[in-house]
Amino acid sequence: MFGPLISKPGSSRKNKTGSWRTEVRPKFLQKNCIGCKICMLICPEGCISEGENKVFTCDFLFCKGCGLCAQVCPKKDVIMEKEDAIQEKSRDKK
Ligand code: SF4
Ligand code: SF4
Repeated sequence: MFGPLISKPGSSRKNKTGSWRTEVRPKFLQKNCIGCKICMLICPEGCISEGENKVFTCDFLFCKGCGLCAQVCPKKDVIMEKEDAIQEKSRDKK
């Protein structure tokens, strides 16, 4: 199903293209993840990685905010957040 979408996973890493993104970005909730790796497979930028203890994150230098990872996650463990809201939250913490 996903094969035609991914010609070479992670190939965008050769061309750092993260200077732009849509107005949203993914947040990996890390609550209900079952480690299926579908998000990694679907990501057109190949920027999702698995850390220790099956903790999945993405590299925002490459993420374009397309939302595919959130769309395909079977456990709804990835949500898309508005960049504005993220910036406001980090401002509140200061
Ligand atoms: S929003 Fe798109 S580019 Fe960003 S991590 Fe998810 S699938 Fe990859
Ligand atoms: S698609 Fe969802 S459940 Fe599967 S590894 Fe990614 S975050 Fe975890």
